[in-house]
Amino acid sequence: MGRPLMTARLDRADDRQIVVAVEGPGESGGLLDYTSPDPVWDAPPPNLDFVAIALVQYAASEGCDLHVEGPVSSELLDRLHEFQLIWAKWRPDKFGNTTVTAAEEVGPPELPQRAGAVMGFSGGVDAGFALAAHKTGTMGRLNRDIDLGVLVVGWDLAHDDHEAIARARAKAERALAAYDVELAVVSTNWQQEFCNAWLMAFNSGLSAILHTFSGQYSSIVHANDRSYDQELLVPPFGSQMAINHLLGTPWFPVVTTGGTHARIERLEFLRDHPALLGELRVCYQADAGGGNCGHCQKCVLTQLEWRAVGLPTAEAFPEPMRMEDLVEVVLPRPHVVPHFQDVLDRLPDDDEYKEPLRRRLEAHRVSKSPRLRRLVDRVAELEQEVASSREEVRAMEQSRSWRVTRPLRAASDKVARRRR
Ligand SMILES: [Zn+2]
Repeated sequence: MGRPLMTARLDRADDRQIVVAVEGPGESGGLLDYTSPDPVWDAPPPNLDFVAIALVQYAASEGCDLHVEGPVSSELLDRLHEFQLIWAKWRPDKFGNTTVTAAEEVGPPELPQRAGAVMGFSGGVDAGFALAAHKTGTMGRLNRDIDLGVLVVGWDLAHDDHEAIARARAKAERALAAYDVELAVVSTNWQQEFCNAWLMAFNSGLSAILHTFSGQYSSIVHANDRSYDQELLVPPFGSQMAINHLLGTPWFPVVTTGGTHARIERLEFLRDHPALLGELRVCYQADAGGGNCGHCQKCVLTQLEWRAVGLPTAEAFPEPMRMEDLVEVVLPRPHVVPHFQDVLDRLPDDDEYKEPLRRRLEAHRVSKSPRLRRLVDRVAELEQEVASSREEVRAMEQSRSWRVTRPLRAASDKVARRRR
């Protein structure tokens, strides 16, 4: 017996909204929505590559094959095939083998002259580094001229938190303007309704959004989390050097940036880019209001990094970290330990956080005994699972409001269409 089929087709595409109708077995499926408050799409996407990318991991996690009812690049289908084989091997508990097919397999579309690259831009260290690295021509043959940054609403920024969205938007706009890059804001229900494993799928979610601009821009610049060598030491993660390029095509490639630098080195690089440092937004806490809360793991890590490289933290972190935050957040999570280790190596000896941080990381190493070591690793893995589950619960909580308001949104769409 074959796997159940999930199908997806373009429902509408205008200059402010793109909607994909997804039909799957049981509760799966619905309307995948990308909406901007501004007219950011000059024309409908030239093909449905973005649909295949947005849904490949969702279909795999629902145990379905995926069929896109429209044109998809055959080159992309090849790459997505490898992409899903990798995930099915890395995390068979989350992703089954899935086959992606399309009503029409196509080559490169014929397009007018396109602008430079598009990138996701939340205002964090990694995106800031990628922007600065490309804009200063330090990427060699990988160098791209970045022309558009996309701020996503519906992930760390909740759909209805208008104040936080406005603040994050203003910060991102100011930072990008210093490099002559425009900002587009795109709100989506992808995480709430079409993502079952956020930490493993966020990059396909982001790449799909950037692909909707493939008729206007010529490549994706993707800001990676870790350096090439650190990536060899951590468990599978949504952004990873082995898979990122599989989310692009030769005519719309994904150029991953950041592997050459550890996080703390990226921050050092940004020392010469005050427009980016001043507007830095690293926090993904729901109550951060589009700024930095000062106390979460991301905020603590970044403040320690700034101290380690000798930058003043007051402007970007008006609410400074406290000693108890360090105890709360520096847990033996394999994803973050290398970053904190880099901080420890560089913190001046007289910094008040040096010794407490050293003790926390020492506790992580705890023992050379292989059995204890395995247990520590297992605990770290479980913590990762808990963090991932928390994200999913948060996403589900948010999705209720999306589901409840769906008839309302559909009705207002109809009214809007009649008015035209
Ligand atoms: Zn924070």
